[in-house]
Amino acid sequence: MKGHIKIKKEICKECLLCIHFCPKGHIIASKEYNAQGYRPVCVNEENECNGCAICATMCPDIAIEVYRE
Ligand code: SF4
Ligand code: SF4
Repeated sequence: MKGHIKIKKEICKECLLCIHFCPKGHIIASKEYNAQGYRPVCVNEENECNGCAICATMCPDIAIEVYRE
């Protein structure tokens, strides 16, 4: 299965839970800040997303949407 995610950067609070739980290493830290002063995570295109939705399930701020292909 393949998928992709959309990160709502203005909602992310940089807790990094999604990075910790993603089995594919598809989510990585970012150096850019959002308006709230957090650095929202971003995707690593080198590692494919499998659409498992673990990241969205773990995110306490509902900042990730998962789309399966
Ligand atoms: S859906 Fe699964 S593979 Fe894709 S970014 Fe989220 S945890 Fe990683
Ligand atoms: S789990 Fe949600 S709030 Fe935490 S870093 Fe990931 S996207 Fe941001």
